[in-house]
Amino acid sequence: MERKMISWPEPGRAKFIPQKNCWTCGEDQLVRVHQACFDLAEYSGQDPGLAAYSGQQFWLQRCRSCGFAQPEALPALPNFFDRLYDQRWADAWMEQEFNSRCKDAIFHTILDELAKRVPRTERTLLDIGAHVGRFLDRARQSGWRAEGIELNPRTAAFAARKTQLPVHQVNAQRLVLEEKQYAAVTLIDVLEHIPDPVQTLITIRKLLLAGGWVAVKVPCGRNQLRKEHVRALFRKRHRISVADNLVHVSHFSPTSLRRALRAAGFSRVFLTVGAPELGTAESGAVRANLSNLFRLGVYRMARFLPWGVRSPLALNLQAYAQNPSACARA
Ligand SMILES: [Zn+2]
Repeated sequence: MERKMISWPEPGRAKFIPQKNCWTCGEDQLVRVHQACFDLAEYSGQDPGLAAYSGQQFWLQRCRSCGFAQPEALPALPNFFDRLYDQRWADAWMEQEFNSRCKDAIFHTILDELAKRVPRTERTLLDIGAHVGRFLDRARQSGWRAEGIELNPRTAAFAARKTQLPVHQVNAQRLVLEEKQYAAVTLIDVLEHIPDPVQTLITIRKLLLAGGWVAVKVPCGRNQLRKEHVRALFRKRHRISVADNLVHVSHFSPTSLRRALRAAGFSRVFLTVGAPELGTAESGAVRANLSNLFRLGVYRMARFLPWGVRSPLALNLQAYAQNPSACARA
């Protein structure tokens, strides 16, 4: 794949590397679907190199072959994504996140599905992107011997302190070198934040025992963009921000998620409509309850419809895939 340095609109200020081929299927027929921008001014004191991207715009492009969407170029700034996620969270915010039940429906669905696939006596689990550790805590309560990976030093330390479980502040490749292996690896709202996701999945496979399972939860890229366009119809000032700052950099379709898992060597790939994140009562109990009723209604209807994950109502995707055999570690 040719990767040539380019820069726009101000040469020398913030450079990009064009991405010509689809990260999940390799095809080069990509069409522009959404324009997004960078606003990283909040990093101006902490990381001026990162903040220099503020004001730049870029297109999200969708692959005609598999429906995956990715940016037409990536920032050339070394370790861009590590620097983006180096937020200095306050303790009070992390405590609030740990106690939040917003994602419990997602967590419990995934633990239930993994429990169907992994015998009770073999339940070891690695959660990639453990954040403040709530999922690790839920997993332990469900009988799993759980560990996490979390790169943000503040959330990693908080999660380890709160759960008293191992939370590794290293990337997955480092654990491969340490010959760690688990019966299950979870990627919950993580893969959409990582460019070139097949490479990540190849590494994840090396962390699984032969016969082990990976569980992936991601937003469904196309349907999230549709939802945002519908919102914008009703709210004049609503900004469609599905890719701003490249916080979401990999936008999956059902086909591309299946292809990415297969390309990484997984077998027995099962796809289903993902459970929604639910709101809290911060914006008012009545409003939150109505919003949650709507989200759960959309989720259940998407599961009920015969075309399931291919329904426009499938706003999130969950996948389970098996590692068929022991992998070479190198
Ligand atoms: Zn593709």
